[in-house]
Amino acid sequence: MWTQSPVSTILYPMNLEAFILGSGGMMPLPNRHLTSVLLRREGELFLFDGGEGTQVSLRKLNLRWKKISVIFISHTHADHVTGIPGLLMLSSQVDRDDPLYIIGPPRIAEYIETSRRVLDMYINYEIVIQEITEPGIVYQGEGFHVRAFSLRHTKPCFGYVFEEDQRPGEFHPETVQALGVVRGPLWAKLQAGETVLAADGSEVRPDQVLGPPRSGRKFSFVTDTLAFPAIAEEVAGSDFLVCEGMFERELEESAREKKHMTAEQAARIAAAAGVKKLALIHYSPRYTEYNLKQLLQEAQAIFPETVLSRDRAVFPIEYVD
Ligand SMILES: [Zn+2]
Ligand SMILES: [Zn+2]
Repeated sequence: MWTQSPVSTILYPMNLEAFILGSGGMMPLPNRHLTSVLLRREGELFLFDGGEGTQVSLRKLNLRWKKISVIFISHTHADHVTGIPGLLMLSSQVDRDDPLYIIGPPRIAEYIETSRRVLDMYINYEIVIQEITEPGIVYQGEGFHVRAFSLRHTKPCFGYVFEEDQRPGEFHPETVQALGVVRGPLWAKLQAGETVLAADGSEVRPDQVLGPPRSGRKFSFVTDTLAFPAIAEEVAGSDFLVCEGMFERELEESAREKKHMTAEQAARIAAAAGVKKLALIHYSPRYTEYNLKQLLQEAQAIFPETVLSRDRAVFPIEYVD
């Protein structure tokens, strides 16, 4: 279990944004593709599920497929993975040097490999598929990691938490000046955590000129599950939580039987987890765009910082300080 993040040496700030590529569950609607969320961190892309229509939204948003480093899959139900083969076929039109990682539940490799074989896909780059055998960190990038945790659905299903490393503390220029370090590259080194020499030859350590480390940002993706208390612990403190809000309160019993949750239950999780913002996703096709307002109202009554995700909506994820 991951407890302590290292302090990143990357120079901040970096942009972090979530793009909703598809907000629907079960069945696509004319204005609602199936579940897919894309996270962009300073030009690098990470995809969370790829339901039908994912590729259409990517095109409309002018996001470059080539920049997707990792695809995280919650589970192998059609409304979460049928957009993937089309995405992989896009590769015949672009050059790509880096491998593509696909991380998901058992049988995701079988699904990808069968699609490749049966559809005679010409793929000119490496695909690395990693099936999750137990919850924990499943991907480690530069300055962040992604952790998977178990959900409770009708088949193995995982939620994901994308968490940045801690950032260096606030830089105090007046202290640096007082210690006699010449302004310029040495300042950048101190900010990046290196010890430097002052003009008089004495050593100046980063901890002398930086405040305590500051937290990075946290994004969580939870869909297709019963509501249960441990979800809130897993996503605690997220800056942005994208969570299934499939049904209205009145259908809670039926949601539980189908191993799904209501918008209100998503809001309870967000409140218990102390997240900054919640976006509902994976709506039942029974709700028209207008009907979705009811889901929103029920959720906002519990957690006011709730929004409805809509196809191609963009959510910037900001630093707290
Ligand atoms: Zn689903
Ligand atoms: Zn499902």
